[in-house]
Amino acid sequence: MSGEDVEKGNEDSIKVVARFRPLNDSEERAGSKFIVTFPHSKDDSQVSIGGKVYQFDSILKPNVTQEKVYNTAARDIVKDVLNGYNGTIFAYGQTSSGKTHTMEGVIGDPNLQGIIPRIISDIFNHIYNMEENLEFHIKVSYFEIYMDKIRDLLDVSKVNLAVHEDKNRVPFVKGATERFVSSPEEVFEVIEMGKSNRHVAVTNMNEHSSRSHSVFLIQVKQENIESQKKLLGKLYLVDLAGSEKVSKTGAEGSVLDEAKNINKSLSALGNVISALADNTKTHIPYRDSKLTRILQESLGGNARTTIVICCSPASFNEAETKSTLDFGRRAKTVKNVVTVNEELTAEEWKRRYEKEKEKVTKLKAQLEKMELELGRWRAGESVSSDEQVTIDMEASSTSQQLSQILVPTTVAVDGDAAEWARERERLYQNLDEKDDEINHQSQLVEKLKEQMLEQEELISSTRRDYELLQSEMTRLTDENEKAKEEVKEVLQALEELAVNYDQKTEEVERKSKENESLSEEIVQKQTSLNSATSELQTVKDSQLHQKKRINEMLVSLLKDLNEVGTIIGTSNDAMKNLGDVEGKVEEEFTVARLYISKMRSEVKNLAQRCSTLETAQSTFRGQIDEREKELNECKLLITQHEAKMKSLSQSMKDGESKKRSLEEQVDSLNEEVARLKAVSKVSEQDGHIKEVLEKQIDEHREQHQKQLTTLRDEILEKQQQIDNLKDENQKLTVTEEQVKAEYEKLKAEVVEKTEKLNELTTIHERKEQARQDLKGLEETVAKELQTLHNLRKLFVQDLQTRVKKSASGEETDESGGSLAQKQKIQFLENNLDQLTKVHKQLVRDNADLRCELPKLEKRLRATMERVKALETALKEAKEGAMKDRKRYQQEVDRIKEAVRQKNLARRGNAAQIAKPIRAGHAPQVNHASTPVIRGGMQPYQPPAVQKRAMTSSAHMGR
Ligand code: ADP
Ligand code: MG
Repeated sequence: MSGEDVEKGNEDSIKVVARFRPLNDSEERAGSKFIVTFPHSKDDSQVSIGGKVYQFDSILKPNVTQEKVYNTAARDIVKDVLNGYNGTIFAYGQTSSGKTHTMEGVIGDPNLQGIIPRIISDIFNHIYNMEENLEFHIKVSYFEIYMDKIRDLLDVSKVNLAVHEDKNRVPFVKGATERFVSSPEEVFEVIEMGKSNRHVAVTNMNEHSSRSHSVFLIQVKQENIESQKKLLGKLYLVDLAGSEKVSKTGAEGSVLDEAKNINKSLSALGNVISALADNTKTHIPYRDSKLTRILQESLGGNARTTIVICCSPASFNEAETKSTLDFGRRAKTVKNVVTVNEELTAEEWKRRYEKEKEKVTKLKAQLEKMELELGRWRAGESVSSDEQVTIDMEASSTSQQLSQILVPTTVAVDGDAAEWARERERLYQNLDEKDDEINHQSQLVEKLKEQMLEQEELISSTRRDYELLQSEMTRLTDENEKAKEEVKEVLQALEELAVNYDQKTEEVERKSKENESLSEEIVQKQTSLNSATSELQTVKDSQLHQKKRINEMLVSLLKDLNEVGTIIGTSNDAMKNLGDVEGKVEEEFTVARLYISKMRSEVKNLAQRCSTLETAQSTFRGQIDEREKELNECKLLITQHEAKMKSLSQSMKDGESKKRSLEEQVDSLNEEVARLKAVSKVSEQDGHIKEVLEKQIDEHREQHQKQLTTLRDEILEKQQQIDNLKDENQKLTVTEEQVKAEYEKLKAEVVEKTEKLNELTTIHERKEQARQDLKGLEETVAKELQTLHNLRKLFVQDLQTRVKKSASGEETDESGGSLAQKQKIQFLENNLDQLTKVHKQLVRDNADLRCELPKLEKRLRATMERVKALETALKEAKEGAMKDRKRYQQEVDRIKEAVRQKNLARRGNAAQIAKPIRAGHAPQVNHASTPVIRGGMQPYQPPAVQKRAMTSSAHMGR
């Protein structure tokens, strides 16, 4: 590359390549026709659609390979970039026309991979084949533009990046993450990462990708170690959003807004291209959208640009295809001025300055001429075409470029224009600042959103915690309450027990006191009793004495009664004594009566017993009679049996004698037989006789035999009878014996009973006697009493008369005193008895209480322990609750603090904007150093991957 080239820059029109994809399945199914024709099969630059012919740098037919596409559209750019030129490739076309297929393809597939992977591989391959003294720094950025917001795909937190201009007025995405890479694989990794980030952020990827522009930027910095020459090439690889009209998708509402916005950026692109295509336009509306700003250099600036126009060949898409092709045609007319981005030395700058100065003077002259002409025009003159000033296109375009690219020159421009330019400058700056601010704000918003989410999460978790704590608290309070109640109950029980205990002890005390007092009283009583008894004794003695005297007197009185009857009144003393004795006698009489009644009842009892015994005796007698009768019967039976036995033995004897006689007969007959046999022997001749004899003998024998058998049977029968009788006899004797024993027993009993009866009768008699005696006695006593009564009456009468007669003061009151004393003693004794009873009761009570006391104490102790345990539990529960509360408080404080901080941060935005985050200052990247790639290293060994974020403002001048 010659120095002249560098100075002047190559004017180069944008390269436009049109690619037609094959009909896709749905189009084929819908019966869409392939409406594109390629008129010249040899010349690959023309395409005809609906009779309209379009001419491009190249036409890529549906069947071309990805490699061919790359070779046609992109391969040259690699060299340019490596030589320090800027390059841009972007794909334009409606959705599903093949843009992504063209740009990316299938990464990793050697056949289907698109332009981007191929370019990356190619760049590295070129570097590997270059001179050794060259050093390369390659960095990549990846972002998308959606709704005119730049979203960093390598850092999801950067959602709205701003576009700034560097010192050379070249726009760049400020703050975009830049990754240093040293091998294609690393680049692919970065791309993968960016794509996955893009997927994460959206719900419908297809829709999203059709509405957003994705921009992949590769920056290659090259340094010649020997000559220190530095070159920088920037390559934009852009997959644009679908270019279709909104109406077609039928979008509405926010989707419509979105589509409009997308279309806005695309229409801005169209406008820029139209403006660039129109030579007369001096203002290019790059600033209308972020997309056009980013692509500013690529469109009519310092860049080699290739546009791949992607089209569907289907009849259904004809209109879109045509408008796409129109866009391409317009773009084709845009001319870029391409220069190498080289860092210039001061001399170089000076030289260029001189040159530019020359140009400026030339232009000034031209301007003057024009002003003159203008003056004439304004004055109403008409200027002939010969006189009209012709504009030097080269100079003007250069000046345009200068105004865009170069540092402010010293060229003097007319006041107005300069003012305008300054104004514009100021406004742009303002705009940039605003952009910056917006970016900053949106980032802040994003951060805040994140924070909000975090906070919300925190709050919800805290709420959950809080709820948990609340429930725990309620549980604890419940428990607490329960425990309290229990404690209360226990305390109540305790109190009750204590009260009980107190009562009991009181009672015990009282009782013991009472006891004491009672025992004291008892002692007192005892003493009084003693005294009373002694008194009693004395009284008794005196009474005895008196009794004796009374008796004596009574005897004498009784003796004398008859004779003394009339002379009673003679002795006053005797009369007095008789009156005293009367009560005593009466008492004794009552005692005697009591005895008598007792005796009577006893006698009655005895009489009853007597009668029962008599009845028993009579029954026994009856029984005895019965037994005797039975016995007699038995005796009779026995005698009968004995008689029978006797007759039987007689008959037996008869039988025996019969038998004996029969045997004798047999013997005699046998003898006869023998004799006859002898006779027969003697006279054997006489057969007849013999026969007769024999016959006779046989008859006899038979008779005899018969008789014998009958006799034998008889004997047997008799024998049996005898046996039976014997048995019966035995039985009878046994029963007789029994009956006899019974009889004996009964006899003994009877004897006994009779004895008893005799005794009782004697007793009875005695009793009867006693009763009669008693009756007599009673009668006598009654008589005597009667007489006594009479006597008393007489006495009393006499006494009364006497009393009436005599003076009243002579009588003593002995008997009355003794009665009172007796009553007193009686009373005291009763009292004593009661007291002793009470004392015993008290002692028993005391013992009971003493028994109960340890039990109560034990219970008390258990209760105390329970109370203690409950108290400790309560304390623990309280402590737990306090802890929980503290924890909760802390948590709440923490949240409050966080919220406060957040609010502060919101308020303090202005402060944060004061030190905006600049790219390169970004702390997020862990790259320690820039990977350095040198040419001529083959095979290339990627150095240990060490990446570092670098400020993107490190641009080189042109
Ligand atoms: P866009 O990015 O423009 O919306 P895509 O690149 O996603 O379109 O293409 C849509 C579909 O068509 C994809 O499945 C892709 O593989 C296919 N496609 C596009 N161009 C071609 C081609 N030239 N040859 C074969 N298939 C293609
Ligand atoms: Mg796509």
